[in-house]
Amino acid sequence: MRFASLGSGSQGNALIVDAGETKVMVDCGFSTRVATARLARLGTAPEQLAAILVTHEHGDHLGGVFSFARRHRLAVYLTHGTHAAASRGSASLPECRLIDGHTAFAIDGLEVLPFPVPHDAREPVQYRFGDGQHRLGVLTDTGSITPHVVEVLRACDALVLECNHDQALLAASRYPAALKQRIGGRFGHLENGQAAGLLRQIDSGRLQHLVAAHLSQENNRPQLAVSALAAVLGCSEDWIGVADQEGGFAWRQLS
Ligand SMILES: [Zn+2]
Ligand SMILES: [Zn+2]
Repeated sequence: MRFASLGSGSQGNALIVDAGETKVMVDCGFSTRVATARLARLGTAPEQLAAILVTHEHGDHLGGVFSFARRHRLAVYLTHGTHAAASRGSASLPECRLIDGHTAFAIDGLEVLPFPVPHDAREPVQYRFGDGQHRLGVLTDTGSITPHVVEVLRACDALVLECNHDQALLAASRYPAALKQRIGGRFGHLENGQAAGLLRQIDSGRLQHLVAAHLSQENNRPQLAVSALAAVLGCSEDWIGVADQEGGFAWRQLS
């Protein structure tokens, strides 16, 4: 199994998970043109994808999903709540699969476990992927870490982990107070210290890859995220990846 990102942050997100025969995209917050160009960067054509899995209805995740899916005849997987929040756009999709936020399913050889997260959307989920050998956990757009999130991500071989903001930078930023409260609240976004706190609660001994994701361009710095995570793992800071808004990140292989 391997994974890569087309871009990550409040301007748009899309992650590609490749389990050999089965490739899926998680979210698409980019136009079809941009997503296609960035897929090409990874040596992947849209026709090679089996499906798009949606986490929630916010524009940086859902914005490009329906047009990309219609254009390339892809199945879209989403929760009932996400579908309800976005149902107008989902008309005339080639294939719309409603999922239960707690129930695992498979797309060919790829095992998918959705799990609910506290975020200010209708029924947001994140996903853990498996190919029978390795597990990749993806966690962004969550305001807090629940016991269930810890349980699901307890033993992963790779993690894409939200480090949205640094608490002090957010507090000092020019954002209006209400927005600061939203971002920093229990249903907002994960800050560097909370991401580090999750790492402390899981078995990080199996981790082959850790990538900090969904960094705020205003309220975080890659260096701050990386040093918070490296401090928990006791690893070198270079070992931790950072997903960026334009570049995402290149393929990372699990072996
Ligand atoms: Zn987001
Ligand atoms: Zn969101």
